[in-house]
Amino acid sequence: MRALRLLEWKSDPVLVEIDDPVPGPGQVVVRIGGAGACHSDLHLMREFEAGLLPWGPPFTLGHENAGWVHALGSGVTGLDVGQPVAVYGPWGCGTCAHCLLGMENYCECPDLVSVPGGGGGLGLDGGMADLMLVPAARQLVPLPDGLEPVTAAPLTDAGLTPYHAVRRSWPKLPPGSTAVVIGVGGLGHLAVQILRATTAAQVLAVDTRAEARELALAAGADLVVAPDDDAVATLRAATGGRGADVVLDFVGAEATIALGAAVSRFLGDVTLVGIAGGTFPFNFFSLPYEVSLQSTYWGSRPELVEVLDLAARGHLRPTVTTVPLEEAVEAYHRMEAGSALGRQVVVPADAG
Ligand code: NAD
Ligand code: ZN
Repeated sequence: MRALRLLEWKSDPVLVEIDDPVPGPGQVVVRIGGAGACHSDLHLMREFEAGLLPWGPPFTLGHENAGWVHALGSGVTGLDVGQPVAVYGPWGCGTCAHCLLGMENYCECPDLVSVPGGGGGLGLDGGMADLMLVPAARQLVPLPDGLEPVTAAPLTDAGLTPYHAVRRSWPKLPPGSTAVVIGVGGLGHLAVQILRATTAAQVLAVDTRAEARELALAAGADLVVAPDDDAVATLRAATGGRGADVVLDFVGAEATIALGAAVSRFLGDVTLVGIAGGTFPFNFFSLPYEVSLQSTYWGSRPELVEVLDLAARGHLRPTVTTVPLEEAVEAYHRMEAGSALGRQVVVPADAG
């Protein structure tokens, strides 16, 4: 089969021919219907160095995956060949306290897993291929009626990650509150929709690109702003001068963290999702009192079930551009150049 593989750090991935995966006991092979191209892959192929993570190339890219059950390993029950499924991406040990709660993104047993903090497409072979080996049947979530793999694929990360970030801040988002979304790309445009679908907060969105700000408006934002000199004043004015209860930063650069901090409100949350590597000087006067700062990584399996349900009932509509597997590298180049909108989803030619 064909697979788009990262062969070494700081390089473009290459499309190569490899053997079809064969499921061992308890494992499942999925025929890929869609694999989202995430900006994290760009960080992987541009910035990350050997030794930064406890795993590394070679592996097949693609950590946002959905498709159809292709082959079942011995002992797997409850799934049928041909059934549409989403792949839950972070693969933990399955037995620690967090994994038992479905939070394999925060598995606490790095010695029990081959790629701590990773999964398919992040250290192990992912879904930018015709087929993908999923090491445990529990990592598959059957798709609800009405949801196609090509739409479900980006929901497993570009949907799940902002869903988790919003959900943990739900108590701070009653009517009268404000949420600010910084960076309206694959994750950010779904963050706007998730805020709309699950809270009564006013939603303000920030992006450098005019077309991304248009996408934010289409996704339901009340106001969009460019990150220029007036951005802080414009955003604070939209909150009646009080500031934003929740800021979600899907960029993570020095400038966006500073912007998020500058528009935050007493008792608010500033949540860092983007991994551009910016830093923030935390001291007694650098934030309004009782603002909580946190990073978040991906989401839990139960949250993925909720995201898929929201989408199946029409509350989440990812803006998707499909890209043939042969053109996946160009998709990353478009993302790098700032000419991609919403999520690009790589589709093997024989999918469907
Ligand atoms: P994307 O490229 O689709 O979107 C990024 C958006 O940010 C673009 O619209 C871009 O125009 C905008 N942007 C860039 N610089 C900006 C600035 N200074 N101010 C305002 N807007 C700006 O990327 P994506 O796939 O949505 O990923 C977003 C980030 O989240 C990446 O850093 C990615 O690695 C990270 N990520 C984190 C997790 C996690 O679990 N924490 C999961 C997935 C992705
Ligand atoms: Zn990702």
